[in-house]
Amino acid sequence: MEVLEHKIISRKELEGLDVYKPGKPIEEVKRELGLNRIIKLASNENPLGYSPMAKEAMIKEMENLMFYPEGTAPVLVKKIAKQLKVKEEQVITGNGSDEILRLLTRSYIRSGDEAIMADVTFPRYETNVIIEGGRAIKVPLVNGVHDLGRMLAAITDKTRMIFVCNPNNPTGTIVGKRELTSFINQVPNHILLVVDEAYFEYVTAEDHLDTVPLIHSHANLIVLRTFSKIYGLAALRIGYGVMHSNFVKELIKVKEPFNTNRMAQVAATTSLADLEFVSKCKKENEKGRLYISAEVEKMGLSYFPSQGNFVMIRLNSSGDNVFQSLLHKGIIVRSGGVLGLPNTIRVSIGTKEENEAFIQALREVIQ
Ligand code: PMP
Repeated sequence: MEVLEHKIISRKELEGLDVYKPGKPIEEVKRELGLNRIIKLASNENPLGYSPMAKEAMIKEMENLMFYPEGTAPVLVKKIAKQLKVKEEQVITGNGSDEILRLLTRSYIRSGDEAIMADVTFPRYETNVIIEGGRAIKVPLVNGVHDLGRMLAAITDKTRMIFVCNPNNPTGTIVGKRELTSFINQVPNHILLVVDEAYFEYVTAEDHLDTVPLIHSHANLIVLRTFSKIYGLAALRIGYGVMHSNFVKELIKVKEPFNTNRMAQVAATTSLADLEFVSKCKKENEKGRLYISAEVEKMGLSYFPSQGNFVMIRLNSSGDNVFQSLLHKGIIVRSGGVLGLPNTIRVSIGTKEENEAFIQALREVIQ
């Protein structure tokens, strides 16, 4: 067949932009390596699944799949608002918090604007800023932690947005309560300050700030959370943002009319009520985090102190190599090579058995 050609080129912002590289899917590894048993600890998913109450709600909701969902997920928004003690008009739901990030940059980043973020952090901040013609100003982490002082110092006349990922992905570290409060107080009011709390529910440290109440005193503050992590609903794509109602009004204009689907809306709504499930996941995750950290230390390796559902381990060799060797043993992790820290791997916390299998495999690989 003749190969068709055309001379239509995309916007210059897309030049050189990489496609997001997710954790390797189980199906792909099975196919490529012919292995039967695969453990995926690569995408910070919940090894304990999701609330049984959400399953029941979804089975009922299947009756209604021929009807479009409500565009702004009002039932869910009401529940979130009540739980967080904010007004309903201060909450927006998205197709994952990924979508809310995109809506924010789509709505507020103009060509030439600067957005400050950590180096390294969740890569979607930079990608979305670049797509809109903005520039990412990346401030190096110090021992895996956001350097808020240098991030403040990086503010210029062009700064439009700042991202703080707390706990940070991929290092899992958090910034202290006092430091973050002081930072939030010092960021000028005309700059959008986005605090991404995708892993909020896993945090056990005392010195961690709940930023949501600060939206009442800081009109420029935006807090993002998700149902993909502790609530275990990653495949359904649903997350939310809490912010000044003026931002919500703008983002709603930009979002797709039916951005969150019926299954996601009912599953998220019922999941919020299942406090027992969340509490169990938090406890199990902490046990896994402590186990992996302690075992890694016994191997003579160090790690970033994590408050998320993953741990980033420093190696004496390339993360890519260790990733490949683990893959051949049926364990998928993320190489720090793709995340911007070449001599590391990031492992998600799994079940007890999965964590033990990972530790045994890692021990064999590094020996
Ligand atoms: N923020 C951070 C820090 C993340 O790690 C992720 C998922 N990996 C997201 C946002 C996006 O999550 P989702 O779109 O599934 O809500």
